[in-house]
Amino acid sequence: MGKSLVIVESEAKTKTISKFLGKNYTVRSSVGHVKDLPKQRLGVDVEKNFEPEYITIRGKGKLLNELRKAAVTSENVYIATDPDREGEAIAAHLAEEIRDKNSNIKRVMFNEITERAVKNALQSPTDINLSKVDAQKARRVVDRLVGYKVSPILWKTIYKGLSAGRVQSVALRLIVEREAEIDSFTPEEYWSITANLEGEKGGRFSAGLLKVGKKKAEIRNEEAAKDLVNQIRDQEFRIKEIRKKPIRRQPSPPFTTSTMQQEAARRLGYTAKRIMLIAQQLYEGVELGPEGSVGLITYMRTDSTRIAGEALQEVREMIMRDYGSEYLPKSPRHFKVKSSAQDAHEAIRPTSMARPPKKIRRYLTDEQFKLYELIWNRFVACQMEAARVEQTTIDITAGKNFLFRATGSVIQFRGFLQVYEESREESETRDDEPDNSRLPDNLSEKELLKLLELLPKQHFTKPPARFTESSLVKELDALGIGRPSTYATIISTLLNRKYVEKQKRQLAPTELGKTVSGILVNNFPEIFNVKFTAYMESELDKVEAGEKDFFDVVQDFYSPFSSAVKSTEERKAEIKEDLLKDTDEKCPECGKPLIIRWGRNGQFIACTGYPECRYTRPLEEKAEESTGEKCDKCGKDMVVKNGRFGRFLACSGYPDCKNVRPFTVGVKCPEDGCDGDIVERKSRRGKVFYGCSNYPKCKFATWNRPVAQECPACGNPYLEERYSKAKGNYLACPKCKYQAEAKPEDKGANVTSSA
Ligand SMILES: [Zn+2]
Ligand SMILES: [Zn+2]
Ligand SMILES: [Zn+2]
Ligand SMILES: [Zn+2]
Repeated sequence: MGKSLVIVESEAKTKTISKFLGKNYTVRSSVGHVKDLPKQRLGVDVEKNFEPEYITIRGKGKLLNELRKAAVTSENVYIATDPDREGEAIAAHLAEEIRDKNSNIKRVMFNEITERAVKNALQSPTDINLSKVDAQKARRVVDRLVGYKVSPILWKTIYKGLSAGRVQSVALRLIVEREAEIDSFTPEEYWSITANLEGEKGGRFSAGLLKVGKKKAEIRNEEAAKDLVNQIRDQEFRIKEIRKKPIRRQPSPPFTTSTMQQEAARRLGYTAKRIMLIAQQLYEGVELGPEGSVGLITYMRTDSTRIAGEALQEVREMIMRDYGSEYLPKSPRHFKVKSSAQDAHEAIRPTSMARPPKKIRRYLTDEQFKLYELIWNRFVACQMEAARVEQTTIDITAGKNFLFRATGSVIQFRGFLQVYEESREESETRDDEPDNSRLPDNLSEKELLKLLELLPKQHFTKPPARFTESSLVKELDALGIGRPSTYATIISTLLNRKYVEKQKRQLAPTELGKTVSGILVNNFPEIFNVKFTAYMESELDKVEAGEKDFFDVVQDFYSPFSSAVKSTEERKAEIKEDLLKDTDEKCPECGKPLIIRWGRNGQFIACTGYPECRYTRPLEEKAEESTGEKCDKCGKDMVVKNGRFGRFLACSGYPDCKNVRPFTVGVKCPEDGCDGDIVERKSRRGKVFYGCSNYPKCKFATWNRPVAQECPACGNPYLEERYSKAKGNYLACPKCKYQAEAKPEDKGANVTSSA
């Protein structure tokens, strides 16, 4: 038998595989893609079936020639690129280049790079899967059409060099919409009352007030809380009922790309991109001293939780041996596989139970070790026995009218928790429930309790949390947007383009990101939305499954898309105009109003007299103004911040303290029967106006700033600040004709606020 040529796409894989295959095989690497669409032009013939014009990537010509030469002298050519769409596309491109030199081309796939898997794969080679290649081609073409047709609209309206991506733009939209929710959130105050109690035999625990009479206790303010404390203080506390409930906690499924990124981001603090890089190293092979290079985990781009039969058997033997039969379920656990998940794929798991993390630690980098250990533990845990927890609920009456409740849980059998417990987002934890991980076990029903302490505590409802990399991946996965190969790229692209920035691990949209998203969402509502993007992903899955045709899918996308592009181009001037923001300043050179506009370096201030007047200056980010006010939750200073809907007060202890208050001018709403405060807001065009804090219930609004000063003529509780060329700023009564000069201190922000 002659020599065979095996082509993979990375150097690390080359090294690992050569070792398994010996002299009869030459292993070469394509070093990633060899062909792609041209950089300088669209490269898609929209008149001719959307055929992409793939060209050899700059610098890959020499490599392709070498591969062609090697193919001539080989009996067989095996293309062993990664087992997914991208890998299939690379395989197809390589085959095109080689076919005239050697047509004996086969496709092999390694779900793991171990000796057994590689040898098995070479014994059952297949042909290149053209449906898979078409699915990749369709995605590439659709993404290219979006990038090339939409980006110029951003250049002409914001500034040149910006770009839009099909899936990234929807992820950006999610981040921007979350930010708007946070900006418009008004925290609501509520109180809890906790009783610290002692049983007859001395056991101590805490219980929270649950019901007042027949109704759930809802305490809105301090006054109500104090009133209740006074009523409850002298009541007799007695245990009404003790309920115990056994609960079985099941382990999480083994990792998919999405869950691995979420969990590793939370636990290890790495970015999604970093995690994929480390996982790839583990998959492609790590040098393990005398054993040589071995792939430690299965393929890291997968949305399947399937586990191969041999792997199940191996892990069950290991659990039996290391933990005992108590920890081994009667039969292996199988997890639901999502409908979109490709069946040939497997979950991410260790390739062998013979390489526990600690045993090979010295061969791994710190990052490799941590990720490998996480994958190992998650996999072992998923095949271990459920944990058994006993949950106890104690209902306590205080007199006839009040019901308190204490809950606690005790782990009776740790099961899989011995190995692994899934972490939670910080935002998922609550602070308003008394916590008894362990209740005293010497309590009984009807028992009289001693009240040690009755504690009222203030809380505020919290705005939704910003996305982290972890929670964004979870959301994208849940919404069916993006695929295992794209989550990490989506996030890193948004960060690179400066549409999003990281603030303490959280993803916050920049002004640029908000502006880009606004233009895309307003002008392409049918394209940049969650439903359509998820639909496109499932269409691409259908192409891969051979159920749909490349042309049909691209055509279905292109018709509505190209008409949206056309009508948006016609509105360019209008869109650009809409981006201008008014200021309340006059040009120091010509007296015309100044506006905020977009330029290559972001927003700046310019004169509306342009081009006659060329006055401009940078838009300095205003430093956070201090207010002299203290946070009523943590005591730190409150500072003024700019939100989408105008200024508001926020605690300088953010993000530890998330207390915010509306920016009030110290005047009560004048509408009859309304108890709201007048707060500062911003119109869509960015102009400041004053409205009622009870909006939308109360629609009171005015452009003139109300000043907390009673009208001496008619007794109206406030005056308004007005402006005229002749008089400058002056005060006037909105009810009668009284006018007064503005005092100097009335010109600035009159910072008072209601708690
Ligand atoms: Zn000017
Ligand atoms: Zn605070
Ligand atoms: Zn009002
Ligand atoms: Zn008046």
